[in-house]
Amino acid sequence: MSEPLLKIDNLHVEFKTGSIITRAVNGVTFELNKQENIGIVGESGSGKSVTATSILQLIPSPPAKIANGAIYFKGKNLLELSTKEIRKIRGNEISMIFQDPSTSLNPVFTVGNQLIETIRAHKKVSKKHAKQKAISLLDLVGIPAPDKRIDMYPHEFSGGMRQRVMIAIALACDPKVLIADEPTTALDVTVQAQILNLMKELQEKLAMSIIMITHDLGVVWETCDKLLVMYAGRVVESASVKDLYQQPLHPYTWGLLDSQISEEQNSSEPLASIPGSPPDLSYEIKGCPFVERCPYAQEICYQKTPQLNETTPGHAVACHFQTSEHQLERKERGYSDGDTT
Ligand code: SF4
Repeated sequence: MSEPLLKIDNLHVEFKTGSIITRAVNGVTFELNKQENIGIVGESGSGKSVTATSILQLIPSPPAKIANGAIYFKGKNLLELSTKEIRKIRGNEISMIFQDPSTSLNPVFTVGNQLIETIRAHKKVSKKHAKQKAISLLDLVGIPAPDKRIDMYPHEFSGGMRQRVMIAIALACDPKVLIADEPTTALDVTVQAQILNLMKELQEKLAMSIIMITHDLGVVWETCDKLLVMYAGRVVESASVKDLYQQPLHPYTWGLLDSQISEEQNSSEPLASIPGSPPDLSYEIKGCPFVERCPYAQEICYQKTPQLNETTPGHAVACHFQTSEHQLERKERGYSDGDTT
């Protein structure tokens, strides 16, 4: 099998405040292949955004520190590169878009200026050439009349249009990997769907790979091939999107799926939620990190940390119990047992 485009290997990230060390990411490992879309899901504080921002070393250091692990891109460990070398990778090879386009765009410059500046920061091209490229990028992301809109300021665009501009900036240097951190959270539902469709279209057109960070499982269903579920800085389940929806194995994944709004749901019905809160990562965690919230916890869960093990090809889970009782519970909740005969 060919080498993955990006490989995160046993990543550990800590935040130090005074004498307190918060272990935000604890041994995360995954691979992203060419033209593959991976979704990373989990509640706030699960470590998904810290994992993503660590790839481009955009975490504020201090207080953050990559304590262990490696991040290989095209076989090269990004953590061993100089600041100058990592700057060349940012934007050129791996690009990132953030949640709120209104804070990511500079209000005092036109969108054209911001696009042209990004293009010229990475490529030695004339202003005229950069302007042509900027217009074609605005066109690519579906901004109408791009030759006119290029001279407008961010406040003259709607929220959805501003996020399209952010995507255009991220694509300015034809990256191989696009990291999208909650790219649709600040948008209303209709615009969310348009942005997700656009990202899917662009991924196919430009043959990119995407890492989509979200707390919303609905977002990844349409756009991703593979999902990682993160909890307390660890990956607790990973599988193809289809397997994860049809055969979720971790009680935390069940909780996330149960807390999604379904099409049949009556608007007056309260949404299900996972009781309790995630553990304080500034304390050492003994046993399973989900133990205090898990209705299936047993003695061993308090004593021993479950490792992420593959149960079927491509589907891995970190839970001590994959017993018939768990399978039965899953069926009762209406998830398939994978028997398609
Ligand atoms: Fe629940 Fe135990 Fe599995 Fe953790 S290891 S998810 S506590 S059953």
